[in-house]
Amino acid sequence: MAAITFSGVKKRYQKTDVVHGVDVEIEGGEFVVILGPSGCGKSTLLRMIAGLEDITAGTIAIDGKVVNALEPRERGCAMVFQNYALYPHMSVRQNIGYALKVAGMPRPEREARVTKVARSVSLEPYLDRKPGELSGGQRQGVAMARAMVREPKVFLFDEPFSNLDAKLRVAMRAEVRNLHRSLGVTSVFVTHDQTEAMTLADRLIVMNAGIVEQVGTPSEVYHRPASLFVADFIGSPAMNLLRGRLGEDGYFRHGRGGMIHLPELARQFVNRDVAIGVRPELIRRVASGTRGAVAAVVDYIEELGAARLIYADADGSPIIAVDNGNDALGTGMPIHLGFGEADIHAFATDTGRRLDEMEPERAPAASVSA
Ligand code: ADP
Repeated sequence: MAAITFSGVKKRYQKTDVVHGVDVEIEGGEFVVILGPSGCGKSTLLRMIAGLEDITAGTIAIDGKVVNALEPRERGCAMVFQNYALYPHMSVRQNIGYALKVAGMPRPEREARVTKVARSVSLEPYLDRKPGELSGGQRQGVAMARAMVREPKVFLFDEPFSNLDAKLRVAMRAEVRNLHRSLGVTSVFVTHDQTEAMTLADRLIVMNAGIVEQVGTPSEVYHRPASLFVADFIGSPAMNLLRGRLGEDGYFRHGRGGMIHLPELARQFVNRDVAIGVRPELIRRVASGTRGAVAAVVDYIEELGAARLIYADADGSPIIAVDNGNDALGTGMPIHLGFGEADIHAFATDTGRRLDEMEPERAPAASVSA
């Protein structure tokens, strides 16, 4: 099973740098998803693995062998695209088997391989149809079968499901996941859809503006975001982020005079401009006067059925809370919100990095000594 190693990988198009030095190790057999907003360089990174783009600086190695100078067909990668680009005049069977035919594989062997692959993506009954006689999901299945039939060392997926409707996307995700489980081929999947990423990935590579923000399992990225960007990008509704300053008196000051008592955090990071983050599902309504409670005013309520989202304003800082109550609650009503200090993620406002992961020498003194 092929491992993929990125070492100092950069990409420049004409005068624009779009990938700024990526160092990541993908293990053999892993399913890795590159996630990030549109334009952050995901597709470029994938295309550099495939050999469809030159690598401006650094190296990419597959199974320890640097592939920078290799032609795409010499790299053992198969790519599945969003626009599946099937040959419309050929049958499903011919589409899937085309690459093997070009490679000169004898017909009986070819037929056997095509049938086996078609079966694995539930397309055997459709082998004699033309792509025009298939549904979108089936066409995507043919595109996957066509990639699989070459028995590649690596599968590369470039937003393959963006053209499909929501229900089909979910079904295709399950299909890809099952395929990966049965074939175990190293896979790199690009998407800007966080749900797709979270459900598919063994590990995520979260990118922003040409840099890797974090590499980790979906759970690590969700529960311990390494940067302000990741904290804000992963999760729906998004993590609450309040910007302010931690004081020597143990209070965090934010918005228009809002104060939250956070003695533990203030002790460690006193006099720092920080953004503190709390997931909406970890915020609960508490009685006024509760220690550490944040006074807020309801902006509006969004009913979700199973729960409701409270959009509130706390002294100028917006806060979203997931609430399971069903009491009457409406715009303008005062509420008190509470959360545990241990549930807080804190980030340096200037660098965007997570405070408790910064090197001691990079973090200013945590206590003010007289
Ligand atoms: P993503 O896949 O994350 O949406 P891309 O890797 O496609 O992002 O693109 C990253 C950046 O590189 C974008 O700003 C895009 O405009 C730019 N870019 C992509 N391809 C080219 C190209 N062939 N020439 C110049 N700029 C490009």
